[in-house]
Amino acid sequence: MAIRVTFWGVRGSIPVPGPTTVKYGGNTSCLELRFGPSDRLIVMDLGSGVRELAGVIMKKDLPRGPLKAKVFLTHTHYDHIMGFPFFTPIFIPGTELDIYGPVTYEEDTLDKIVGDQLRYRYFPVRLEELRAKISYFQLKEGSLDLGGGLRVTTKYLNHPILVLGYRYEFDGKVFCTAYDHEMFQNVFDVKPDDPGYDPAAVKEGEIAAREENEKVLKFFEGADLLVHDTQYTHKEYLAGKKGWGHSSFEWAINAANRAGVKHLALFHHDPLRSDQELEGLLRAYTSALKGKTTMRVSVAQEGKTIEV
Ligand SMILES: [Zn+2]
Ligand SMILES: [Zn+2]
Repeated sequence: MAIRVTFWGVRGSIPVPGPTTVKYGGNTSCLELRFGPSDRLIVMDLGSGVRELAGVIMKKDLPRGPLKAKVFLTHTHYDHIMGFPFFTPIFIPGTELDIYGPVTYEEDTLDKIVGDQLRYRYFPVRLEELRAKISYFQLKEGSLDLGGGLRVTTKYLNHPILVLGYRYEFDGKVFCTAYDHEMFQNVFDVKPDDPGYDPAAVKEGEIAAREENEKVLKFFEGADLLVHDTQYTHKEYLAGKKGWGHSSFEWAINAANRAGVKHLALFHHDPLRSDQELEGLLRAYTSALKGKTTMRVSVAQEGKTIEV
């Protein structure tokens, strides 16, 4: 199989270990990507799940020599970087890590945002004491040739800070991510009785939002696997979660289906969502889709691998 994606953290916002999250997992975002027969590794996000991944790397990769890998961050919200101090390879001499990600304010550089977690005020080891060579690269929208037939393309998504979606293409297969992401909304969407109501602006906002959403669909067109933010149900979204930067299950399913995605993995589960609720939601959406699409839908689960 060309691309293998293993989930080590699937939660949004904060780790939530406990009896109600045993099945799907309670760690925050971290994905292990492996490419081709050489098992080339890319890490996506450094949420609390990266501690588990570190254990796998120690067993699987370290015996073959020092770890040289790339890390791609979707963004720098704390749930996506908090596991960095617990990523054991950074304490091993010879490790070389290239960390890529977007920054919202140029003065807040990636090395400061991620690396400053290793200060005595937060952690017993300082950045200067690390034995690894860590390099940081600030990413914008664009496309990178990673060599060996692997290409990655990035796309800005809709979230309170800059977030990049990723599209990896390798050996004829496509793997995409779209989290943390909320469908683009009409920024001029005000009621007619609002003093700032301007029908022309409302119409313009409507068109702009539609265009942006179409661009996102185009971005994950034909993906063999798409990992998409589904923090809320549509009902929850409408009841006060608009503008929080996350999608609904309904939005993600419709968008993926329209874009011809083959397998959609529901991801960035709300910290309050229990295993039982996730199972129930998956059952309901699967039966609603029956006979209408060939797209597979699954719930991202810690320790599980999806191959494409
Ligand atoms: Zn998040
Ligand atoms: Zn976020």
